[in-house]
Amino acid sequence: QYVLYGDQIIKRDQASIDMEDRGYNFGDGIYEVVYIYGGKPFSMEEHFKRFAESAAKLEMKLPYTLETIIDLTVKLIDANKIHNGIVYIQMTRGASPRNHLFDRESSCLITGFARKMDPPVQAQENGVKTYLTEDIRWLRCDIKSLNLLGNTMAKRKAADHGCHEALQHREGTCTEGSSSNLFIIKNGTLYTHPATNLILNGITRQHILTIANEENVDVTEQAFTTDDLLEADEVFISSTTMEIAPVIAVTGDKKGTYPIGPITRFLQKKLKEKINQPTVL
Ligand code: PLP
Repeated sequence: QYVLYGDQIIKRDQASIDMEDRGYNFGDGIYEVVYIYGGKPFSMEEHFKRFAESAAKLEMKLPYTLETIIDLTVKLIDANKIHNGIVYIQMTRGASPRNHLFDRESSCLITGFARKMDPPVQAQENGVKTYLTEDIRWLRCDIKSLNLLGNTMAKRKAADHGCHEALQHREGTCTEGSSSNLFIIKNGTLYTHPATNLILNGITRQHILTIANEENVDVTEQAFTTDDLLEADEVFISSTTMEIAPVIAVTGDKKGTYPIGPITRFLQKKLKEKINQPTVL
């Protein structure tokens, strides 16, 4: 297996991370996950645009141009001969004597790996169960940072209750999943939390909003409550690795079940079509 280390593709067992890398000590870093379909990364430019935005929000300097980072990512995918799978790219603020105070001029370290993975057809077809719980994360969820303890704790809780994903709410307002965005459909209208500091503006979420607009599905980026969630006609979650997965049940802070509805199926189909279009890089 080959990994990306700086601007080099090297064997995984030859890579080493400094004990005082700020990503390792402080979680001082950012990342992206891109899905590879039939050897081709989907929405790579959008992912790396968000990568650059996350870096800017944290005052981290990209060590190379986005073009170079994209080139290196393609090399990493090719070196690992990935047909279907994911590529993970992260950037930390690099190594320096441990100190909370960061230096804006630090030279950042980009690393990455790629892994084979089949699309989760089962979840897409049959839907997933979810666990509704308080959102305990920080107030900059718009940054795709390495700090994911709120997310991982929510996911653990969901799994402990036999659920695939956690849905999070802040005092009764639904935000998003632990690693996905959340949508509900009520009386033919699609609702999702606006892209504020309280959620990650998912690339899949953005595709879904574009599709809804193109296909005249009534859509509004408006926050909704856990009661609205319970009363929804259809519920689904979205992410790079899941695309669109229907939600068939909610348990935890509130409890409900849902059918897999026609709008969810329609959006799933349209998103697949977008993914299967020949990509222009
Ligand atoms: N929200 C959170 C917290 C996530 O971690 C993710 C993806 O991992 C998403 C939303 C979905 O984002 P994307 O569609 O870009 O994968």
